[in-house]
Amino acid sequence: MKIGGFQKVSLIDYPGRISAVVFTRGCNFRCPFCHNPELVDPERFTDLIPEPEILSFLEKRRGRLDAVVITGGEPTLQPELLPFVIHLRAMGYRIKLDTNGALPEVIEEMLGRRLLDYIAMDIKAPLGKYGEATGVKADGRRITRSISLIMGSGIEYEFRTTAVRSFLAPPDFEEIGRLIAGAKRFVLQRFVPTRTLDRSCLGAATYSDNELKAIVGKLGSIVERATQR
Ligand code: SF4
Repeated sequence: MKIGGFQKVSLIDYPGRISAVVFTRGCNFRCPFCHNPELVDPERFTDLIPEPEILSFLEKRRGRLDAVVITGGEPTLQPELLPFVIHLRAMGYRIKLDTNGALPEVIEEMLGRRLLDYIAMDIKAPLGKYGEATGVKADGRRITRSISLIMGSGIEYEFRTTAVRSFLAPPDFEEIGRLIAGAKRFVLQRFVPTRTLDRSCLGAATYSDNELKAIVGKLGSIVERATQR
């Protein structure tokens, strides 16, 4: 696995669990507002962390950490993702995968092999705005396929959207809600424009607390539970 970052302990990345967080390097999207540019832009890549180093740390923490969160970048692009997760599960860890949902075939295989306990998928925008929000030609059918796989999976999951004012107007959030109607959990993430892939997004205008609250309120009538982070 190409691992560009590692956080030894987190109380917030896996709801209700103490986790370690593995950041894979490389992404097929180029979201201008991405807050992990060092995992996405080859010119800003930092050194890789050897996988054995991480496995040996996690081996020593068995019983003290509950879970491993695998995030990115986009983890489903990593050819060694499945063996890595199988190794971690053999150690007894719960696994949460964070994904942009562009590779439903990987999600399907991981769900089919019962390798995941929690999955969090970003919904970047309504389908008609996906290209603009991701900086690439995104295939909406792959996004909707991932959504239905996740909603039918029977495991814990959440969909989440970063509230980037320059890309998403209030009606866009309702359209996003309709894409995931009936979902168990939606999380609206505040956009903090202090570190972005596209430097022109630095310092961009953001939604106020009251505006975010109003968006969450509307989404709450479309999904089972909508919250703000
Ligand atoms: S925000 Fe976009 S570019 Fe950044 S890691 Fe996620 S999907 Fe990739």
